[in-house]
Formats: sequence, C-alpha cells, structure tokens
Amino acid sequence: MKRIALLLSALVVGIVIMGISLVDSAQGRTIYFDHNMIASKNLTDHGVIKYHVTGNAHKYNNEINVATKKWNYALGKKVFVQTNSLTDSRLVITKAAITPGLAGVAEINSGVIALNSETMNRYSESKREAVLIHELGHTLGTKDLYLYPEASLRSLFTRATIMGGDYSTHIGKFDADLAKWSLKHTTPVSDSEFNGYRHDPHLYFQKYVV
Ligand SMILES: [Zn+2]
Repeated sequence: MKRIALLLSALVVGIVIMGISLVDSAQGRTIYFDHNMIASKNLTDHGVIKYHVTGNAHKYNNEINVATKKWNYALGKKVFVQTNSLTDSRLVITKAAITPGLAGVAEINSGVIALNSETMNRYSESKREAVLIHELGHTLGTKDLYLYPEASLRSLFTRATIMGGDYSTHIGKFDADLAKWSLKHTTPVSDSEFNGYRHDPHLYFQKYVV
C-alpha cells in the first residue's frame, strides 16, 4: 500500500515537472500545465482527426476552414483533415438545437461538434470562427479553462486563452503549447470505443448526425 502511494506521488511530481512553464506577460507569472486542464481522451486516430461537415453546417464552411487551418499551423502538423465521408470521419461538425445561449458544444466520445445557429447567427464572423477554434480545441483533449478550479488562474484563463473562452481568433503560444501537451498526456479514443459511441442511437448527439 505504502509503496503504491509513493509510486503515485512520484508519478504526479513527474507530470508536473514535465509540464511546460509559461510566463503570462501581464502578470509575469509562470503557469504549469496540469491535469485539471485536460480530459482523459482525445479524438485523434494515428495522429489525425478526419472531420466531416454535415449539409446543415455548410454555411459555416469558411469559419471551419480557417479554424482547422489555424490549429494545424499552431500544432505544426496537419491534425485536422476534411473528409466527405461521414463513416470515414472521427469528427462530425453539425448544426443542432442545443441549449439556448450556447454557441457550440463538443462531444468527444463519439466525435461531434454541434453548433447552435440561433446563437451563431447573432455573432460576427470572427466570433463564429473563435467558437470553432475553441470547440476544436476540445477534440485535442483540452478542457474548458473557465472551469479551472483555482480562481485567480481561472480568471486569467478566461481573459487570455482560447480554452478559457476569450473568443480570440489567434491561437497564441499558451493555447498551442497546451494543445500539444494535451495530445501527449491524453489517450486517443480507441476504434472500438469510438464506434461503440458513434453507433449508439441513445447518445444525445447522434440524432443530429445525419
Ligand atoms: Zn468549451
């Protein structure tokens, strides 16, 4: 028992040390990546996320193209690759009547980004693009930083990071490094797990994937 506890704490320390430190210029503080910033899984399959845009979301093609290109550039590799085949895709971007007020939701298990056109229609093109960049960030395994447990960091993240919901269309160094760190410290959803979710008709988002 004691040995396991020791091993676990060594592992936790190891992870913190491996985290990349970042200096926020406004506050001059170093921020370490930690596991409150990431989920357990990401949507990549052999390093790639093939995405499919359903017909009802074609009106967001511009924003989707720009957002995926910006992520690929920030990550330094072509992670997001478009496919015309729904069955070949790991991620479906679709329009859906989700919770009013929300612009978009990312569901990682079965790979769905649902966009709420009622909210999106009220947004400028750059704000719609920011929504796409944020939701795509979730598919790389990152969590919402506006929910980060520590209050002062949470407030900083909310003001200054994409995953904190700052509606920026620029993927800065913090966001890019966090996404790379997340891809290293989360597990790609396995084929069997992914297919199980995608073909589960009871899963909330599946009714929107047409
Ligand atoms: Zn989010």
